[in-house]
Amino acid sequence: MPCPDVHSDASRPPEPDTGSAEHRRSQLAANLAVVRERIRQACERVGRDPGEVTLVAVTKTFPAADVRLLAGLGVGDIGENRHQEAEAKAAACADLDLTWHFVGQLQVNKARAVVRYASVIHSVDRFRLVTALGRAAADLERSVRCLVQVDLAGEVGRGGALPAEALEVADTVAATPGLELAGVMAVAPFGVPPGPAFARLADVAAEVQARHTGATWISAGMSGDLETAIEHGATHVRVGRRLLGERPSNR
Ligand SMILES: *Cc1c(COP(=O)(O)O)cnc(C)c1O
Repeated sequence: MPCPDVHSDASRPPEPDTGSAEHRRSQLAANLAVVRERIRQACERVGRDPGEVTLVAVTKTFPAADVRLLAGLGVGDIGENRHQEAEAKAAACADLDLTWHFVGQLQVNKARAVVRYASVIHSVDRFRLVTALGRAAADLERSVRCLVQVDLAGEVGRGGALPAEALEVADTVAATPGLELAGVMAVAPFGVPPGPAFARLADVAAEVQARHTGATWISAGMSGDLETAIEHGATHVRVGRRLLGERPSNR
């Protein structure tokens, strides 16, 4: 009797996908445990309460299904850096109770669309963007938390206000109805130890907070440098690859 070849039987229904979804879930759970433990240890070293540090899972390039799995694992803060991709994922996950963080460079003409789903914008770095976000927030009757992105390296193309200018951008955010100045954000310069940059960010954060007491957030630290960021007072770490895996391109 011939042995049926299940592999060539096109009429056979596909296996339910629960196997690979379950595999992905345990992969994300394991990664999440590693990241949470890194946060805990970094806090312990400098005598901070891990409850002061919010993990923002940066899901760019990964599917909405991963966002859903992370939500099931207790991650409530999701970061994205491109509007179209973020918008689609936020729509696909509209039934979940998530806080969407926009962490990428933001064009003025996308401000309104981003305000529809994002409650935190980490990349506020110029006056025109503040104006556009303020108009959008007022029109949509939304309140948007804004972080002033500080350029710590003077690198072209990565965004951010120069430290000297960040204070004025912060003042403008604070004076704009519909926008809430939450604090500051930075990406460490590439290829050098991040400590000095995060120390500089902490200085800017202190200056901003001296004028705006509610602006207590410091968004700093990614997969490779979250410990250093926490040592320098980060309240929000934005972690992508260590949670979700390597990304195809340089995103
Ligand atoms: C991609 C990205 C991250 C996450 O970086 P990882 O190295 O993957 O952890 C954090 N912040 C911003 C602004 C990003 O674009």
